[in-house]
Amino acid sequence: MEKKKRIALPLQIFIGLALGIVAGLCLMGAPEIAVDYIKPFGTIFLNLIKFIVVPIVFFSIISGVISMKDIRKVGSIGVKTVIFYLCTTAFAIVIGLVLANVFKGVFPELAVSGLEYEAKEAPSIMDTIVAIFPSNIIEPFASATMLQVIVASLFFGFGIILAGEKGEAFGKFMESASEVSMKIMSFIIALSPIGVFALITPVVAENGPMILGSLAMVLLVAYIGYILHAVLVYSSTVKLMGGLSPIKFFQGMLPAMMMAFSSSSSVGALPLNIECSEKLGAKKDIAAFTLPLGATINMDGTAIYQGVCAIFIASCFGISLTLPQQLTIILTATLASIGTAGVPGAGMVMLAMVLQSVGLPVEGIALVAGVDRIFDMGRTTVNITGDAACAIIVSKMEEKKEARRAGRTG
Ligand code: ASP
Repeated sequence: MEKKKRIALPLQIFIGLALGIVAGLCLMGAPEIAVDYIKPFGTIFLNLIKFIVVPIVFFSIISGVISMKDIRKVGSIGVKTVIFYLCTTAFAIVIGLVLANVFKGVFPELAVSGLEYEAKEAPSIMDTIVAIFPSNIIEPFASATMLQVIVASLFFGFGIILAGEKGEAFGKFMESASEVSMKIMSFIIALSPIGVFALITPVVAENGPMILGSLAMVLLVAYIGYILHAVLVYSSTVKLMGGLSPIKFFQGMLPAMMMAFSSSSSVGALPLNIECSEKLGAKKDIAAFTLPLGATINMDGTAIYQGVCAIFIASCFGISLTLPQQLTIILTATLASIGTAGVPGAGMVMLAMVLQSVGLPVEGIALVAGVDRIFDMGRTTVNITGDAACAIIVSKMEEKKEARRAGRTG
């Protein structure tokens, strides 16, 4: 039977978004209908995303680690990778905050009286570090504590390598589980037009068209941040540290970037990202480790988004953030972006942590939730581009290290 030609997913999503806005405007007289009958479908969509996050992260990191075969190599590459990821993410959040402060004047103060909140105290740095390490095997999975899941997957990956031949069967099972989880994720991504529709409708119905105008501004600020970061940080690092022309880099990355833009999932774009990075000079085993890790912990676009949204939400509630509060945001957004899984909407869930850290109303997320998908398309594109830049740069460093070693022994 001939396959029917389907509308491309990004277009479907825009149709979902546009229909959701129209439905929201129509339901402005009776927003309870949107809240009671449409919003639950948005919740189902978000629940499905949360459901698949943990298996994706767990299995893909294990697959990356076992493909390196040597723990010391994983360690040396791991350190370089994590340093690159942390530095670029901190830079990203600074760009986000600076831009949002510059444009703060155009963010409106909204009538958000219906949203009540109780500011909670943020956990201390030491508590955050302690919380990275799981104390039992089930809990991190049950509570979807991402950093604990990453730590668990590293241990399992190391265990499989160290067990040698006896670990091979388990390793194969993990690789197969990773493939299966990615397939499940692609079903869920296919539901995003409905998810977007169901999320935007209640927001518009409750807030009216004014929310759309102000959201257009905050979206614009985030996109300026995404582009600035890609141009400034990735161009200069791939040129200086990877010896690659920025134009070649972005050209070579285009397929993966388009995939990221349309799927809003770093993990979804992972296979293409591996392919593009390898073509641009990343080594196979390094890409197999840094890219799945990056798809899980390196989220520069998400960090920009979190900075911009934190300032936007504060403005909507008429709150002005002090400098120490903004410094706290840099720290928590870096941590939050590490804990964000590479699936659609995950960054929005982690925004809660950033808002809480400076006592901002978590309910403010409702203001941006309806258009999260549009933020997400851009931030995911930046996220995966950063992962690829890292894979290429670390490969170059390893290449130089090996050449030096060969020079010494030769
Ligand atoms: N969707 C993003 C990604 O996959 C994560 C996020 O929601 O910020 O990279």
